[in-house]
Amino acid sequence: MRILLMGPPGAGKGTQAVVLADRLGVPHISTGDIFRANVAGGTPLGVEAKRYMDAGEYVPDSVTNDMVRDRLTHDDAKNGFLLDGYPRTLAQVSELDSMLGQDAALDRVVELTADTEEVVARLLNRALDQGRADDTEDVIRRRLEVYAEQTAPLTAVYADRGLLTQVDGMGAVDEVTGRILAELGV
Ligand code: AMP
Repeated sequence: MRILLMGPPGAGKGTQAVVLADRLGVPHISTGDIFRANVAGGTPLGVEAKRYMDAGEYVPDSVTNDMVRDRLTHDDAKNGFLLDGYPRTLAQVSELDSMLGQDAALDRVVELTADTEEVVARLLNRALDQGRADDTEDVIRRRLEVYAEQTAPLTAVYADRGLLTQVDGMGAVDEVTGRILAELGV
């Protein structure tokens, strides 16, 4: 199964993606995680990405697309994957389409929905737990704006293709996982 998980920052996307990938037996491919690993490792990619991440902005497509293209060629992604956080722009949708081709196109797109004030509260809590540099209130609000401007429009594209399922992301982790699996028919 080739699945894309979408949703605003703080909707629980990362948490759900880990559980779902495990249940479905496919790799979890998170661009945010790959960027954070590069930041932690001090690689040139990490140094470049950090400037944008810390401001709540998207890393340029020129960096992001090549990174995903490379990741998707790994053997573990041959029989499916769960994409988390990519694509995030309409240009990335076109890039992904060309990377996958018609024979290996996405099977489903799940959008986790969440109330804005609730996600701001969740992200501020995560800042206390994990100390992420991009979890301050100003940056959180900027990330939500960028999501609304650049990423929310992608749902219409995937809805037109008949791939989109919306799932309420609020509630306990297990409940939300159950809703997603039910929608996927797993
Ligand atoms: P995430 O963990 O998915 O919330 O991603 C954290 C940050 O990494 C985002 O706020 C962006 O700065 C960057 N990022 C992750 N995925 C992408 C992407 N597909 N395009 C551009 N920037 C991204």
